[in-house]
Amino acid sequence: MTDRVVVAGAVLDRGRLLAARRSAPPELAGRWELPGGKLERGETPEQALVRELREELGIETEPVERIPGEWPLKPGYVLQVWTARLLSGEPLPLEDHDEVRWLTARELEADTVDWLDQDRPAVAEAARRLSGG
Ligand code: C5P
Repeated sequence: MTDRVVVAGAVLDRGRLLAARRSAPPELAGRWELPGGKLERGETPEQALVRELREELGIETEPVERIPGEWPLKPGYVLQVWTARLLSGEPLPLEDHDEVRWLTARELEADTVDWLDQDRPAVAEAARRLSGG
């Protein structure tokens, strides 16, 4: 059986990366993630990402490229991450989150927020891109 895909966005804007703090479920609440969610039937990962970021944060985005790799979540699910450009809107924690922050390369380096473990490799890669590395 193939794993179901959860797609998350490394949304980049003006030298910063968007981070969102989960409000649910209890075991993940308080941890920070690259926002996203599960693909619905018939969707491409890019379409799912645009939809999830619109629903959860009220922003319009454009997926740019996939960050190489795939990270296991709970059994049967894998995480894939795309970088994305912010087209319009100011991110607000509308659904599943209780806080959002834009982090600079320096803040990412200083490990300012408590990322979900499974998001860390993609966050590190996004941080490298922010600092031009
Ligand atoms: O957001 P949603 O609940 O649809 O995400 C499904 C699952 O994917 C969550 O339970 C969470 O464990 C995982 N996830 C993650 N990292 C992300 C986004 C989601 O581990 N950046």
